[in-house]
Amino acid sequence: MSDNSIALIPEEPRFIPATAKQIIARNRFAEMVPDADQVEIFVSETVRFFDCGANFEEVHCPLCGQEISLDWWQERMGEDEDDGFKLDRYRTPCCNGASTLRELIYNWPQTFGRFALEAMNPNIGTLGDEQRRELEEILGTKLVVVYQHI
Ligand SMILES: [Zn+2]
Repeated sequence: MSDNSIALIPEEPRFIPATAKQIIARNRFAEMVPDADQVEIFVSETVRFFDCGANFEEVHCPLCGQEISLDWWQERMGEDEDDGFKLDRYRTPCCNGASTLRELIYNWPQTFGRFALEAMNPNIGTLGDEQRRELEEILGTKLVVVYQHI
């Protein structure tokens, strides 16, 4: 038995929407995924990594587009985590540019944040652009959509 979830995370990893907006957005999101097991608000003291689980395939450099080795990436993940992620800048192995782990391009998308709306087993496939935009308006932030498959 495998699980799927959809997590919506602000583009700015440290941003936390006002509580009233969180609740409105959560209720609206729940209406969009009526068959979900549950829809929850997640708030953390520190920056957390939202991964896409088994959907994770590769990481690319945001500066030159080259694929980055998972060994390099895992080492930086270990280095960056210190009671949450610091999101420091690191020299990329491909073009010696500077990038945070948040800025790397993940396929499928994954990201970092302190706030998320998460729907467990939403049963909708993908979230429509229009629905995402509606939640972005409620929360006052652009959102990254992470589809996790476990
Ligand atoms: Zn590069």
